[in-house]
Amino acid sequence: MPELPEVETTRRGVEPHVVGRRIVALTLHEPRLRWRVPSSLPAKLAGQLIRMAGRRAKYLLIELESGTLLLHLGMSGSLRVLPAQTPRVAHDHFDLVLDSGNTLRFNDPRRFGSLHYTTDVVGEHPLLARLAPEPFDDAFNSEYLWRVTRKRSVAIKQLIMNSTLVVGVGNIYASEALFRARVRPRRQARSLTRDEVSRLVRSIRTVLNMAIRTGGTTLRDYLNADGKPGYFKQKLFVYERAGEPCRKCGTKIRQLTQGQRSSYYCPTCQK
Ligand SMILES: [Zn+2]
Repeated sequence: MPELPEVETTRRGVEPHVVGRRIVALTLHEPRLRWRVPSSLPAKLAGQLIRMAGRRAKYLLIELESGTLLLHLGMSGSLRVLPAQTPRVAHDHFDLVLDSGNTLRFNDPRRFGSLHYTTDVVGEHPLLARLAPEPFDDAFNSEYLWRVTRKRSVAIKQLIMNSTLVVGVGNIYASEALFRARVRPRRQARSLTRDEVSRLVRSIRTVLNMAIRTGGTTLRDYLNADGKPGYFKQKLFVYERAGEPCRKCGTKIRQLTQGQRSSYYCPTCQK
């Protein structure tokens, strides 16, 4: 499933190909995505200039002259920039054809992705209005995490994966950030010290930044690759490494289940 780093990687990959381009046409091959794409949408987009390619949580925000497209990759979606005449393959659901001769093509086998268009202030769109801070926002700082952890007895890993408190910390990144912060995933949120909270804020940013950067290295062949980060996995300390030696101390990495998701930690490095 595309997580925040994959979405940001996608944003960076498509940005140079779309910004400053005009939309020639939106061609809907399969409008039945997570929500049906209205058949009136192509007429609204045709001829519009693309001003910016942004992101909020896992939504790509393509800002046009008169509105903004909100695109979500869902569970299995991907976006590619291709020459417009490239033959379609299975699960290619729409083409945003550009005046450069390229198309921004959306493929999504499971169709949990979505495409919305708004002419209102995009941040007030119902899908975005109530989202928690981004991990890279100033609003997500150690004071904030300290405050939200104080009265919560939930496990810290589940807290940082709660998208009503901070968006974009998926399972891999939560395990890795907790290792770097030297905090066990099952610790009660309110038991964390000030130092641990500060380390965790820094670790979350570090881990996500690394994932984005390594995702970026696959972007060189973005035009024909699938845009998925391939190198980040080699740098994982704990995720899916149960029974293997800790890269810092050699202790065997342990695995446990929290909220139906696997967590991994080093019993020596993490307290
Ligand atoms: Zn260790």
